[in-house]
Amino acid sequence: MLVSTAQEKRVLRFVDSSQSEVINLCSELVKRQSINPLYTGVDVDKVLGGEKECNEYLEPVLKNFGCKTELFEKAPKRTNLVGVLKGAGGGKSLILNGHIDTVPFGKVDEWTGKDPTSGKVRDGKLYGRGACDMKAGIAAMIKGIEAIGKAGLRLRGDVIFESVVGEEVMSHELGTSACIERGYKADAAIDPEPTVLSVMPVTSGLFWMKLSVEGKPTHSCVRDQFIRAGGKGDEVGVNALEKGVKLLNAIGELEQQWGITKQHPLFNPGHFVLHPGVIDGAPHGVRVPFVVSSYCTIDYAVWHHPRETAEQVKKEVEDYIKKAAQLDPWLSKHPPLVEWLLHWPPGEIPADHPICKTTGKSHQEVTGSQAKIQAMPAVTDVAFLDKAGIPSIMYGPGDVMQAHTIDEFVAVDQLITATKTLALTAMDWCGVTEN
Ligand SMILES: [Zn+2]
Repeated sequence: MLVSTAQEKRVLRFVDSSQSEVINLCSELVKRQSINPLYTGVDVDKVLGGEKECNEYLEPVLKNFGCKTELFEKAPKRTNLVGVLKGAGGGKSLILNGHIDTVPFGKVDEWTGKDPTSGKVRDGKLYGRGACDMKAGIAAMIKGIEAIGKAGLRLRGDVIFESVVGEEVMSHELGTSACIERGYKADAAIDPEPTVLSVMPVTSGLFWMKLSVEGKPTHSCVRDQFIRAGGKGDEVGVNALEKGVKLLNAIGELEQQWGITKQHPLFNPGHFVLHPGVIDGAPHGVRVPFVVSSYCTIDYAVWHHPRETAEQVKKEVEDYIKKAAQLDPWLSKHPPLVEWLLHWPPGEIPADHPICKTTGKSHQEVTGSQAKIQAMPAVTDVAFLDKAGIPSIMYGPGDVMQAHTIDEFVAVDQLITATKTLALTAMDWCGVTEN
């Protein structure tokens, strides 16, 4: 370890001596389900109130080390928790924002021990839904700051803890944006999402795009009449499915071009893609193959470059589809419909922003190795913090590859490292004084 000051060493020693408490807090959160009630396929009545229960559990934890707390909700039982730890004055302020909601369990039988809320530690891994995404991050941010006070120190700037609802389905207006609207602002924010302890100042943007194509249904026995030479072609029938596949292939070509032309220094080369996720098509009313399909829809997840606006992306994709459609006699007369059902905006601050540098330096002090600066491949609430003028990064325990999976876990050593890094980062960013 390279830690320079005696004060920092005191705080790190305190975290080391209270590791079991950090693990315990994460485990207690995992034991309380907090599935996002708006997630597709969820039985609302069964899960609603879980987020509230977790935040009600956390409130006294924050109060115990001097935070002024408030629980508030924009929708029934979707309760957010905010805790403000007032600084001694003369330092910069910091928001620590984590989402308390999780995705559903998936098939409970497939979990080892058939218990997605075990919160148990095996071989250095803490298991359960939300362990990685992102109850470990929430435990780390709280226990890291608590350790500063326990070591006899006081921060100069204010720290604002936010444990918010809704993130998993972009209900930011119920969670993160509701906190902003309530007036919680700071000089920077850290969102301890699972980043494998990399500093992440950027996320991509994400669209849900729906492409719809119409056909001309008829009996499938006359297929030869509309696909073979000598037949009457489109007059007889048009298979919407095959027109959809044609556009699917065209969009695949656009995706190939994106792989070459759209680069960003912090993303993997070729990261930006147009992912076909759901394909549907059939004759209207009858899902049998004996009638020619009258419609085809393809739902895409479009992961776009953070430096492109929503309008630029939409225009490029729509123009491409329009041109591809013009090459087909049927599609040129019956143009496909493109709908943009959802947009999760990107977030980006410069990789050399002071909050990146401070966090990276703290990581290095704790681990002895240089922090990686990378892009978050997924989308997160930092987009909305950035938008509100609060420069934000992600840095937290766990791997996004583990998020949302059966047997989700977080590595305990990462949980402890994140706790330490967040403590040193707050000390450096907010300033510190003897209590
Ligand atoms: Zn998350």
